[in-house]
Amino acid sequence: MNFTLKFDNGNSIEIGSIFCIGSNYSKHIKEMGGSKPDAPVIFLKPRSAYLENGGVIKIPEFSDLCHHELELVVVIGKHCSNIDKNESYKYIAGYAVGIDVTLRDIQNSAKQKGQPWAVAKGFVTSAPISQVISADRFEGKIPYFELRLFLNGNEKQHGRTRDMERSVPELIEYLSKVFTLNPGDCIFTGTPEGVGQIKKGDKLVAELVGFTKIELTVE
Ligand code: MG
Repeated sequence: MNFTLKFDNGNSIEIGSIFCIGSNYSKHIKEMGGSKPDAPVIFLKPRSAYLENGGVIKIPEFSDLCHHELELVVVIGKHCSNIDKNESYKYIAGYAVGIDVTLRDIQNSAKQKGQPWAVAKGFVTSAPISQVISADRFEGKIPYFELRLFLNGNEKQHGRTRDMERSVPELIEYLSKVFTLNPGDCIFTGTPEGVGQIKKGDKLVAELVGFTKIELTVE
């Protein structure tokens, strides 16, 4: 399996833990029928979920409803523990676009039973991540990004990271306190509205507008 993230400047890094944020855009919370959580909703995917550009998303046979969730992915460059949000930019290696591929039927069943989401969110190929744009380009600032997802050429999701309920600095501060963060760790920062089904034979393109994109097929 491939565990290497490649950067636009030629660098590369071995992928670490994959942290994911749930319920981080108000319109997506609404479409899922939820409410804004009091604390960040965190779940993890194993490294074996990682899929690189050009890869094939493999929907497991036990699911009949697989969804795309378009997300900004933040890649960590340095160990961080108990950091303040105002210092968070120093620990970011770069930014990518990813898809939090979700078995919605399995997730809904787990939610009803109060069970974990690991199968629904962490199966092999459930974490496609694009080439990483180096944070050096942004000179100490954490920029806002625009994200788009196209399914068979039709736009399905279009979000702006300024609409997040909890910002990238707030998320890094929180994760650094609970888990610590390490080089190569990835943070999927939540999806804007417009999630929907993908099926065998589909073609997906996700864009970090103006910077990079990832193209995938579905099996
Ligand atoms: Mg998600």
